[in-house]
Amino acid sequence: MTTYEVAHRRSIEQPEAFWAEEAKRIFWHKPPEQILDYSNPPFRQWFVGGETNLCYNAIDRHLPERANQLALVAVSTETNQTQELTYADLYREVNAFAAALKRLDVQRGDRVVIYMPNMAEAAFAMLACARIGAIHSVVFGGFAAHNLAVRIDDAQPKLLICADAGSRGGKVIAYKPLVDEACAKAQTPPPHVLIVSRGLDPAEPKVPGRDVDYAQLRAEVGDAEVPVEWLESNEPSYLLYTSGTTGKPKGVQRDVGGYAVALAQSMETVFDCKPGQVMFSTSDVGWAVGHSYNVYGPLIGGCTSILYEGLPTNPDAGIWWALCEQYGVRTMFSSPTAIRVLKKHDVDFIRRHDLSMLKYLFLAGEPLDEPTAKWIFEALRKPIIDNYWQTETGWPALSVLPGLDMKPVRFGSPGFPNLGYKMKIIDEQSGVEVPANTKGVLVIEPPLPPGCMTTIWHDDARFINSYFGHFKELLYSSLDWAIKDDDGYTFILGRTDDVINVAGHRLGTREIEESVSSYNAVAEAAVIGVSDELKGQVPVVFATLRQNTDEPAARSAAADGMRKTVEQSLGAVARPARVYIVNALPKTRSGKLLRRSLQALAQGADPGDLSTLDDPNALEEVKRALQRGPDVG
Ligand code: AMP
Repeated sequence: MTTYEVAHRRSIEQPEAFWAEEAKRIFWHKPPEQILDYSNPPFRQWFVGGETNLCYNAIDRHLPERANQLALVAVSTETNQTQELTYADLYREVNAFAAALKRLDVQRGDRVVIYMPNMAEAAFAMLACARIGAIHSVVFGGFAAHNLAVRIDDAQPKLLICADAGSRGGKVIAYKPLVDEACAKAQTPPPHVLIVSRGLDPAEPKVPGRDVDYAQLRAEVGDAEVPVEWLESNEPSYLLYTSGTTGKPKGVQRDVGGYAVALAQSMETVFDCKPGQVMFSTSDVGWAVGHSYNVYGPLIGGCTSILYEGLPTNPDAGIWWALCEQYGVRTMFSSPTAIRVLKKHDVDFIRRHDLSMLKYLFLAGEPLDEPTAKWIFEALRKPIIDNYWQTETGWPALSVLPGLDMKPVRFGSPGFPNLGYKMKIIDEQSGVEVPANTKGVLVIEPPLPPGCMTTIWHDDARFINSYFGHFKELLYSSLDWAIKDDDGYTFILGRTDDVINVAGHRLGTREIEESVSSYNAVAEAAVIGVSDELKGQVPVVFATLRQNTDEPAARSAAADGMRKTVEQSLGAVARPARVYIVNALPKTRSGKLLRRSLQALAQGADPGDLSTLDDPNALEEVKRALQRGPDVG
């Protein structure tokens, strides 16, 4: 048996002994009394009674040895600024931020919404919340007011922290007006909004009593030190909202101790990145990878983390590799979409850099297609490591674990279950494990390992129904189709639900449908994900109007209105690539939209089983619309 197989078997057969060992990787103010409590399935508690703190493990603990080592390098090719912070600098800035939070009366257990791009202060804010035991919820900067309002109402934050603006390719996106709109829409707007200004957006009129300027508060608190709040291992550390099958996003809740242990462990076994080494993850802090491998993971691991704001092609397509050379990056982590963007540029942008320190490129978030994997492998001549995970898992569930003993990479497969993950592929109907080379649903046998979500914020019932309610046996459904080959390599074949993956961003088609339907002229809308060469998938809308029309100008005006509505309410990430206006949508006799048939037709495939189709004309309508071409797009 290989080292991986021995370790994996132990993690499954003797989880308590295994994780008790792993728990030694972090600092415990009070050691755990019980490693695993699984008395209330599917809920589980790891390291019960143990007291620790994410911020302490990420910063304070390293000060004796690494005060002068770089902890965080925040590079922005949007503002053309680079901030290099040592562990000592980070300690100072996070303490000051924590003092500012205290001034605004943020207490242990309070929620704080963070709406910021990849700037150093976003990391300060997250770590400061962790320090004082406040629960942060970072909202991706590409989301618009509606998304923000929905998250505010669910998390009910005591404070919202935002940047004055983000910037993409030099185009400034003011955040403050979006925050004001979200606060106006929300039922429970936060009493305070803390604004971190970079001078990108001309000063907005401040709402008296609510808005606070961070620079001013920072000056007032000076170099204050704020004591660490010791938290029981299972207290919530943060919420991260993700799309599901309904229009309402799910607040994925993470704990403290289990998360810290999983990150410390995965930094070494999965990412092979040791204390003092450099990790560069190109993710956004608004996503799960951003939380785990831009902020907490590398810092808990005593590494240097590079945080990048900007396009991968600005000032040219060599910028990421220039940073790898400059900072001696060992482990790089990005997404297939980003590589597909780079693939349009000369490979020399990569080759001209000295990448002798770079050991691996990890890619995750969406299926890695073979041409992309091969192109980047040829360019870098370093292992390209596909790894599979979800916001819910918080760290990779499938990979080839190069830090342990790397299995040969097989293009198209993220590899094998990571330590602590007991996975199988089962038949959707019977729930029985399928043989090799047969498609089924990828499931995890509970208890979920440390680091994975503990529940959905304030909604245990939804947690059970969404993830554990699909089969007779109590199993966590990944909601992904998968297949395993004869050698045990798992391949991911796409989602079983209505979630689509646009350029690595996870979007719920229901959310987009709700937004389209909010446009006055629309009677009903169906949104599907259609394959796209660059982005993996793009949202495509089929809609009926309140007043049918065959007038092309009227159709395209309505289609344009829908697209703008989505962009305004959900943000540019969700913007439909194409809108088709039809006179009827294909539905079952019980009134359910046949999204899968629509998707098949839109991709030129067989629409599948149509025995439940109510009105055959609706299908013909769709075919005609596809032939005619989109009304916008
Ligand atoms: P998110 O929660 O945004 O990270 O999205 C998780 C989903 O992205 C998964 O359920 C998969 O559908 C998809 N995904 C993530 N990583 C991979 C991968 N390596 N290969 C294929 N699909 C992936």
